[in-house]
Amino acid sequence: MRGNRGAHRGSPDSGSVTDVVVVGGGQAGLAVGYHLRRQGLDFVILDAEAGPGGAWQHMWASLRLFSPADHSSLPGRLMPIQSGHTYPDAAHVVDYLADYEKRYDLPVQHGTRAEAVHRDGDRLLVEADSGAWRAKAVISAAGTWSRPFVPALPGRGVFAGRQLHTVNYRRPADFAGQRVIVVGGGNSGAQIAADLALDGDVDVTWTTQRPPRFLADDIDGRALFDAATARRRALDAGRDDTGGVASLGDIVAVPPVREARDSGRLKASPMFERLDRDGVRWADGTRASADAVIWCTGFRPALTHLAPLGLRGRRGHITTVGTRAADEPRLHLLGYGDWTGPASATLIGVGRPARDAAREIADLLDA
Ligand code: FAD
Repeated sequence: MRGNRGAHRGSPDSGSVTDVVVVGGGQAGLAVGYHLRRQGLDFVILDAEAGPGGAWQHMWASLRLFSPADHSSLPGRLMPIQSGHTYPDAAHVVDYLADYEKRYDLPVQHGTRAEAVHRDGDRLLVEADSGAWRAKAVISAAGTWSRPFVPALPGRGVFAGRQLHTVNYRRPADFAGQRVIVVGGGNSGAQIAADLALDGDVDVTWTTQRPPRFLADDIDGRALFDAATARRRALDAGRDDTGGVASLGDIVAVPPVREARDSGRLKASPMFERLDRDGVRWADGTRASADAVIWCTGFRPALTHLAPLGLRGRRGHITTVGTRAADEPRLHLLGYGDWTGPASATLIGVGRPARDAAREIADLLDA
């Protein structure tokens, strides 16, 4: 039987019992909270962050969304326009998510990290750093930000300069007068390289594994979302894979990227082969000295709390059917990437898989 409408806020010390525990209170956790509430389920959202906003709290100052505000909204509430900006910044997203959490009175327990999820008879036991919950279902929406990925290139250990990942980058002033290598041909690499290049006080080299693929200037996240939707429809209908987002390109030409590229300040070099003490070296023997290397080389899904369930398969992912774990019907995964639903790891795209996950869990609990 389902719990009462409204969320359970019982003390974890008593081993609280609830219908659903959501791990992660970023946009994915909030979107599914919205739908769990509509389903009348009893739930709690555990979030490791002290405040609302998930990973958006940690993104660099100049970052711009790749879609306008009205195409960056969670279910139920449009993101307001940010005055003076077609493409909002990360602070605007944090404000929006904080407001969303409050507006729907979502039971987010901030500052609580889920450490392990175990099977416990007909329940799943979620052990957190400040207590435990026994739930009929768990939704993992822990994102990827806490698991930055850096490729194992030769010489990484001997480079004497600074090495950072996207997650540590803040602003060009931190690199004033320095030679910086930015690695990565995706949106983060392009935006950070552009940010440094436009500053004028940083000597930046942008390296990418293959020549950068810019989307046409008039294409932004709206078209990416449409492509993801068309792909989902094609696959649902048993038609050929349209290629989805990847068929359009990798980099959205948001205004700073376009400005840096068109003024000749954002040019990509091929990927170097190794690092040495003072810089990087290409296969043909060319080298460049560097004070810092910024790895914009992506993320892995945060799934370690699910390890006791023994579900991890190929590429470290958990096999899913929609959002449900194929081998554990009480577990759903949300956000993370396309493997948990097309465009699931975007603001506008997470709404639909969130709705489906909440419905499936409601059905499971009713059965
Ligand atoms: P997160 O925002 O990472 O939230 C997960 C939450 O779970 C965090 O608060 C984290 O602390 C918490 N958590 C993790 N582990 C645990 C645990 N064990 N216990 C409890 N809590 C835990 N999308 C767009 O739609 N538009 C964009 O323009 C866009 N730009 C992006 C730019 C960059 C640089 C990146 C990296 C991503 C971008 N995205 C964009 C993609 C996506 O929207 C974001 O990555 C977004 O933060 C994903 O939300 P999430 O809720 O899945 O994860």
